Amino acid sequence: MLYTSTRDKSIKVTAAQAIAQGISEEGGLFVPVELPQFSIEKISSMIPMSYIDRAKTVLKEFLTDFTEEELDYCVSGAYAAEKFSSPKIAPTVNVCGNKNILELWHGPTCAFKDMALQLLPYLMTVSAKKTADGKTIVILVATSGDTGKAALEGFKDVENTKILVFYPVDGVSPMQKLQMTTQEGENVAVCAINGNFDDAQSAVKSIFTNADIKAQLAEKNMMFSSANSINWGRLVPQIVYYFSTYCDMIDMGKIEAGEEINVVVPTGNFGNILAGYYAKQMGLPIKMLVCASNNNNVLTDFLKTGTYDRNRDFFATTSPSMDILISSNLERLLYHMSGEDDKLIADLMNKLSSDGKYTVSDDLINKIQSIFDAGYTTEESVDSTIKSHFDDYGYLCDTHTAVAVKVYDEYVKATGDDIPTVIDSTASPYKFSASVLNAVLDGKTPELDEFEMVDELNKTTGTAVPKPLASLKDKQVRFTNVCNKEDMSQMVFKLLNL
Ligand SMILES: *Cc1c(COP(=O)(O)O)cnc(C)c1O
Repeated sequence: MLYTSTRDKSIKVTAAQAIAQGISEEGGLFVPVELPQFSIEKISSMIPMSYIDRAKTVLKEFLTDFTEEELDYCVSGAYAAEKFSSPKIAPTVNVCGNKNILELWHGPTCAFKDMALQLLPYLMTVSAKKTADGKTIVILVATSGDTGKAALEGFKDVENTKILVFYPVDGVSPMQKLQMTTQEGENVAVCAINGNFDDAQSAVKSIFTNADIKAQLAEKNMMFSSANSINWGRLVPQIVYYFSTYCDMIDMGKIEAGEEINVVVPTGNFGNILAGYYAKQMGLPIKMLVCASNNNNVLTDFLKTGTYDRNRDFFATTSPSMDILISSNLERLLYHMSGEDDKLIADLMNKLSSDGKYTVSDDLINKIQSIFDAGYTTEESVDSTIKSHFDDYGYLCDTHTAVAVKVYDEYVKATGDDIPTVIDSTASPYKFSASVLNAVLDGKTPELDEFEMVDELNKTTGTAVPKPLASLKDKQVRFTNVCNKEDMSQMVFKLLNL
């Protein structure tokens, strides 16, 4: 299996190269040259398997340059039972009728990013051994919350890696801040910066590309890499749970083998839903992929009209992990659905960076619309969805999941298409206790601090508080560094003891 670039398909690299390198030299994203095909028989054979074995079955088709032993080491380490609060790793839960929820937040940081970021460090260290032997990989992350913690937890004490995370001092929730500042591990460091997320992000990018810093690192046998979702190594683990939920749906008696399902995904950077598209193209019987957005509805507009336009107001919503106006992974979908037209993709992406917008042909958008539908929510409807699903079905969902549930309800109303459906749930409600409690109590929340809020949500709903969040209360704060964005590169050297 080889990988090529969305902007230059003459490029061919192995999986290990794609994962170690992260992004192609000319700025394109790595994509598989062809997709492995799974028959219904092969899919059915995965029903009795554990999540780890399902993962190995899917991943070995993509990581053909990994040995059986390497793949086993990676997957068994990433999805070890003690790291997840469900023995199924990613359980599927029936809410009512044909409405099912795939819970992707049972990992150590209680958000779906764990599904990929538990595996990525293993894939990266094995890949680096094959392509950059002996080097220590330094992961630099700028985060607005979920990615930083999930990456810290994933790379914690992984041999030959170090990870440094920068977050905006006033730009993350109290729970997210505590999750990061109490992080354990010998190879981790966290630093707040005076500035917002964009400041952190652009400073990290400039450190990445600073030749002088790179040279100093190389002298110490170190190299930078990135853990964000443009890396193929973060995308490929996500294909697995679509196969896994389909097997579970058969096992639960919700569908027959071969029967089609719909999939609904709360979307930001388009990584999660793109993994669903890959699963469909590999033969998994998915009919429609429904892309759910919050008030930042740039993707809804694109999927309805064919024009992508990021020149619009940015809204800070109660589903912050979906507050995004540039969905990087859409580039991969456009590449595949345009018949691998690398010239077109390079041209569209140039337009996006120069004008902030582009329009695709009618032909292309019609093709995309034959498998993708889209919708978005307002803030009020997120609250009322959380409340009604808790009141009616006893199912408590977080704000991001509620966006998807609401968009799905609207989809069924508009189309009448109510075949068995899986809705991705991307975070534990306890990660966003203030918003969820406020919705459940209909806006009548008393003044409480973060942990009182968690206790109150637990008392009000009778749902379990995830252990990793509950145990934060007693953890020691390890990282109190704050620096100005101009001083971030010095901070990198200091944290690496150079
Ligand atoms: C990152 C994230 C999303 C968005 O996922 P994409 O793959 O970027 O589309 C949705 N919900 C939560 C809770 C997240 O952390």
